[in-house]
Amino acid sequence: MPSSSSTETLPQDAAARPLSALPGVGAALSAALERRGLRTLQDLWFTLPLRYEDLTRIEPIAALVSGQRAQVEGVISQVETGFRFRPLLRVVMEDDSGATLVLRFVHFRRAQAAQFAPGLRVRAYGEARAGAHGLEMVHPRYRIVGTTPPALAQNLSAVYAQSEGIGNARLTALMARALAQLPPAHELELLPAGLRERLGLMDLRRALLCVHLPQPGDDQAALAAGMHPAQRRLAFEELLAQHLALRRLRQQARARRAPICSDGAELQRRLLAILPYALTGAQRRVLGEIMADLAAPRPMLRLVQGDVGSGKTIVAALAALTVIGSGCQVALAAPTELLAEQHYRNLTGWLQPLGLPVLWLAGKVQGRARVAALAQLAAGAPICVGTHALMQEGVRFRRLGLAIVDEQHRFGVHQRLSLVEKGAAAGGVPHQLVLTATPIPRTLAMTAYADLDVSLLDELPPGRTPVQTVALASARRAEVIERIRFACAQGRQAYWVCTLVEESEQLDAQAAAAVHTELAAALPELRVGLVHGRMRPVEKQAVMDAFKRAELAVLVATTVIEVGVDVPNASLMVIENAERLGLAQLHQLRGRVGRGSVASSCVLLYRPPLSGTARARLHLLRTSNDGFHIAEMDLRLRGAGELLGTRQAGMLALRVADLARDADLLPAVRELADRLLHEQPACAEAILTRWFGSARRYAQA
Ligand code: ADP
Ligand code: MG
Repeated sequence: MPSSSSTETLPQDAAARPLSALPGVGAALSAALERRGLRTLQDLWFTLPLRYEDLTRIEPIAALVSGQRAQVEGVISQVETGFRFRPLLRVVMEDDSGATLVLRFVHFRRAQAAQFAPGLRVRAYGEARAGAHGLEMVHPRYRIVGTTPPALAQNLSAVYAQSEGIGNARLTALMARALAQLPPAHELELLPAGLRERLGLMDLRRALLCVHLPQPGDDQAALAAGMHPAQRRLAFEELLAQHLALRRLRQQARARRAPICSDGAELQRRLLAILPYALTGAQRRVLGEIMADLAAPRPMLRLVQGDVGSGKTIVAALAALTVIGSGCQVALAAPTELLAEQHYRNLTGWLQPLGLPVLWLAGKVQGRARVAALAQLAAGAPICVGTHALMQEGVRFRRLGLAIVDEQHRFGVHQRLSLVEKGAAAGGVPHQLVLTATPIPRTLAMTAYADLDVSLLDELPPGRTPVQTVALASARRAEVIERIRFACAQGRQAYWVCTLVEESEQLDAQAAAAVHTELAAALPELRVGLVHGRMRPVEKQAVMDAFKRAELAVLVATTVIEVGVDVPNASLMVIENAERLGLAQLHQLRGRVGRGSVASSCVLLYRPPLSGTARARLHLLRTSNDGFHIAEMDLRLRGAGELLGTRQAGMLALRVADLARDADLLPAVRELADRLLHEQPACAEAILTRWFGSARRYAQA
C-alpha cells in the first residue's frame, strides 16, 4: 500500500499538509497527535466529535435522569465541607422544578469551597448520577451567577475523544485552525453530484463545518440526536469507506491463488455412512456451495450463517474432508476453549475412524506438547483444532488449504486474516470458511461481512421442539428452584446461567460459585455441578462430561456455555439477570436446550424495574424462537455495535454512521463502492485515506 498522499488525481494539497505546519503545534504536540494517528489536516477534519455539550438550555432538575449530561441552574440550599476520610465538598442546589441536586467535589481548594454559600445562584454542567441521596454531579463545571444570569450559549460545542497530551480544549482550538484551511467545496467533494442530489446529501464542506463548529442557526436538537443532515452526509461517506475497505480486502484476497480441492468424495461418503442421521436439505445445499468454491483456484471467502443447533459443525467437517482428500491441511479455530474442545472431540469422533488424527492447539498447550504439535503441523498433519493460539506467530502449516473460524463475531477481521496468512502452497492462500450462529440481519451482514459470500443454513434438523420461554422477576427465585427440582425428578437436567455486566471472568466465576452453593443447599437430593472460565480445561471438561453423562442433574455455569455445548437431555435453562444480556446472546444461550425431543423451557430471571426497552426485548424472546427475527428486532432496539459485540470493533468502529438508523443508505453505498473500485480506484483510495487516516490505522490483507 502506498503510504499517505500520493493521490495524484485529486486536488488534496491542503488535506495532506502536516499538522506540524499549523501555528502552535510544536514537537511535543506533534508527537502526541502522531501517536493518535493524526498527521495531516485531513486526519483532523475527519476526527469527528464523540458527542456534544449542550449549554444552550437549562434542564429542570426534576427532569434529570441518571447518566444524562446537562446544564442546570438553581439556588444553593446547603453547603457541607468535611475531611472524614478524605476532603469532601457537597453543595446542595434546588431549582424552580422543586427538586434538589448535589454537586460533589473530592478535589478542591479552600478558596473554591468558600465560593459556595446558601442563597447564591449557581449554574453547573455535568453528568447526573444516582448518589447516596438522590442525583448528584461529581466535579461539575460551574459558575456562581448573579440575579441576572448570563445568556445561554447559542450552539452546541463538540466533544472529542481525549487522548494523552491532547485535551478537548486543545483539540477544539486546533480543529478551528485546521478547518479554516478547508478547500472549497468542489475540491473536497468526492461523491458524484447526481448521487448526492438523489439522496439529498449535503455537501461535505458544509457538513464538516456543521458537525465540528455548530452555528446558532443550525438545528441543535437534530445535531444532539445524531439526526442532522450533516451527520447523515458524513454517515454515508463513512459507510462507503467501511464498505470499500472490506471490498478491497476481498479483491486482494480473491486475486491470489488457492489450492483446487475437489477430491475427498470417498472420505465424505465414509463419514456420512457412520452418521446416525441424514443431512437436512439446507445442509446439503450449503455444502454444495462450499464445494463449488473449494474446487476453484481462487480462495473461498464464505460465511455460513445458521441458527443455534442448525448443524454447522458437520457441514464444516465434510468440507474439511474435501480439502484433506485433496492433500491439503485444515485449521479450525473457535473463540473459547470449551467450544474448541467440543469441536475437537466431535471431529476426532468423526475423523479418527477414517484414519485421520486430529491435532489440538490451545494457549494452554505449552512446552514439549506445543513443540510436538507445531512440528506435526509443519510436517503436514491433516487437521488441527484450537483457539486463537492457532493464529499466533510461530504456527506454520505445510500446506494449509482451509481455515475454518467458528463464531466469527468473537474474532476480529484481523484475527481471521492472520490465520489465512499462515499460507497455503507458495504464493497462495487457504480457503476461508466462517461459521456463525449470530443471525445477523441481512442489511448488517452485507456491511459487516462485505468481504464474504453468505450461505444460509435455514432449516433445523427434524425432531426439535421449540423452547418455551418465560420471564420472571427475581423475587420468584424460590419458585424457579422448585421448577428445577420437578424437571430433574423426571430425569431431565437443567442449566443455571449466571451473568454479569462486567467483562471480568473472576467476578463471573465468584457469582457462579455463590449460586452453586445456594442451589446445592436448596436441592440436597440433586447433584449440582459448576463450570466457569477460570477453571482449568481438564476440570471444565470433567464437569461437562459428568453433565453429559447425566451424573450431574444441574449445571451452574457462566456464559462460557453460550456457544456450542450440546447436551440433548437438558430441558430447562435459567438465565439470571437476563435483562443485561443482548437478545442474540440470550437466544444463543437458550439454544442449549430444546436439542432433544422433550419439551424444553427457558426462564429469564430479571431484576425489576425493567426499562421500556428491556421489557420489549424480553417480550420478544418469549414470543419468538426465530433467530433472524430476533436479530432484526435487536438491531432496531439496541443498534449494531452491541449486536455485533465490541470485539468487532476493528472494522465497524463507526464514528457517525449508525447501521440501524442509516440502513436505508446501504444499497446506494454498496452500488457506489462497486463502481468506484472498478472505475475510479484513485477516488476509492482517497476516501479510504480520508476515513482511515493518512497513517492507515487499519490492517492490510
Ligand atoms: P450449530 O449449528 O449450533 O453449531 P451443531 O453442529 O452443534 O449446531 O449441531 C447441533 C446438533 O444437531 C448436534 O447434536 C448434531 O449432532 C445435530 N445434527 C446436526 N445435523 C443434523 C441432522 N441433519 N439431523 C439430525 N441431527 C443433526
Ligand atoms: Mg456450533
